[in-house]
Amino acid sequence: MKQLDVAIVGAGPAGLATALYLQKSGHRVTLFERFIEPAPIGSGLILQPTGLTVLDDLGLFDEIAALGNRIDRLCGFDALSGRTVLDVRYAAIKGGRFGIAVHRAALFHVLYQAVAQAGIAIETGLDIVDLDISGDRAWLLTNTGRRIGPFDLAIDASGARSKIKRHARQPREPKPLPYGAFWASLQAPESASGNTSLVQRYQRASTMIGVLPIGRPAPQAPGMTAFFWSTKPDELEKLREKGIQNWKDSIWKLWPECEFYLNQIHSFEDMTLARYGHHTLPTPAGKCLAIIGDAAHSTSPQLGQGANMALLDARALSHALTRSPDVASALSRYAASRRMHVQTFQALSAAFTPFYQSDSVLLPFIRDRFVAPLSKVSPGPQLLASMVAGTLVDPFKSIGLQERNWQSA
Ligand SMILES: Cc1cc2nc3c(=O)[nH]c(=O)nc-3n(C[C@H](O)[C@H](O)[C@H](O)COP(=O)(O)OP(=O)(O)OC[C@H]3O[C@@H](n4cnc5c(N)ncnc54)[C@H](O)[C@@H]3O)c2cc1C
Repeated sequence: MKQLDVAIVGAGPAGLATALYLQKSGHRVTLFERFIEPAPIGSGLILQPTGLTVLDDLGLFDEIAALGNRIDRLCGFDALSGRTVLDVRYAAIKGGRFGIAVHRAALFHVLYQAVAQAGIAIETGLDIVDLDISGDRAWLLTNTGRRIGPFDLAIDASGARSKIKRHARQPREPKPLPYGAFWASLQAPESASGNTSLVQRYQRASTMIGVLPIGRPAPQAPGMTAFFWSTKPDELEKLREKGIQNWKDSIWKLWPECEFYLNQIHSFEDMTLARYGHHTLPTPAGKCLAIIGDAAHSTSPQLGQGANMALLDARALSHALTRSPDVASALSRYAASRRMHVQTFQALSAAFTPFYQSDSVLLPFIRDRFVAPLSKVSPGPQLLASMVAGTLVDPFKSIGLQERNWQSA
C-alpha cells in the first residue's frame, strides 16, 4: 500500500487509536475534531481484555493500568430481596484475564498524549457535516462551508450521531432506546480501596443503580467512582419537578450504603444524562470511507463493549490497510474482519438490554428466577465471562492480533 493522505473525523477512542496505528504504518494522518479543546464526555467505562489487548499493542497498557482500577467481578442484586441475580467472574475462564475500569478522561489523555507525542496533526473546532467524494478522493465539508482535502481515505470516527455515516454502502441511523442513565464521577470512599467489582442493584428492569470504581483521571488526582442510575430520558421533566431530594430518597431506600455518593450530588446538573441508541452498519465502509467505533455500531452500554469494539476497529482497519494493495480492497477486508464479532455483540446487547432496562415485568422475572440459577452451573459462568470479556467470538485472529499475556500483569 502506498503512503496515503488520511483524514480522521473524531478524536474519541476510535479516532485517536486509529491515528496512532496509521501514522506508525507511514501514512500522513490529520485528525479533525469538533471540540475546540478536545475533552472526554461522560464518566467511566470498563476496558475489557479485547480493548486492553489493543492498548497493549499500541504500547499504552502500563499507562492505562496505572490510572485505572482492576475489575475481577461484575455482580448484581435484586434491591428488595437482596438475591444475587448476576455474578460474572473473569476467573471462570483460564488465562488470568481481568478488566480495567477507567475514568474517561484517563483513557482520553493517555491516547491523546500519545497522538501529540507522535506529532500527528489535529485540527479542532471543526464540525464535519458532510463528505464530497469525487473520483478516488474525498473532501470533508464543515458546517461553515469549508472544504478540506483531498484525501485518499476519510475515516468516520465521530460517534453514534455521525453525520457522515450516511455515505456508508447501506446506511442506518440509531434507533433511540427507551432507557438511558444518569452518570456521575464521584469521590471514592477510603473503603473502596482494593475493590475490584462493579456492583449493581435492580428493581425489576426499570431501575438499575451501579457503582464502579474507576481509578483516577490523572496521576495525582484522588480515586473516583462512577455512579449511575437508569432512567427514561422522557421522564426527566417529571423527575425535576419532584426535586433532587425525592430522587435521592428513592435511591437511598433501595441502597442505603450509597449515601456517601448521594451526599456528593446536589442537583441534577451534577450528573450527565446519557441517551442510548442502537444501530449496526451492515458494511462499515463507503467509497474512500471507513466507518469505525460508535459511528459504525452503537448500542446501550449494558454489555460494556463499545469503547473496546472501537479499539478493535482501529486495529482492524490498520491491519487491513497493511495487507491490501489498494484502499477499496482494504475497506472490504476491514469490514469482513470485524463482521462476525460486531454482529454477535450487537445482537447480544439488543437481546440482553431489555432484561435490565425496560418496563417489562416478565423479563426481569425470567432473569431472576431462571437465568440467574442457570448462570451458576457450567458452562454458564464460562459463557458469561467470555461474553463480558468480549471474546465469546474470537476478535483477534481476523485482525492479526495476539491476545495479551495476562499472567505478565
Ligand atoms: C454512559 C455510558 C457508559 C459506557 N460504558 C462503557 C463501558 O463500560 N465499556 C465500553 O467499552 N464502552 C462503554 N460505553 C460506550 C463507549 O463510550 C463508546 O462506545 C465509545 O466512546 C465509542 O468511541 P468512538 O471513538 O467511536 O466515539 P466517541 O467516544 O463518541 O467519540 C466521537 C468523537 O467525535 C467527535 N465528533 C462528533 N461529531 C463530530 C463532527 N461532526 N465533527 C468533528 N468531530 C465530531 C466528538 O466530539 C468525539 O470526540 C459507554 C457509553 C456511555 C454513554
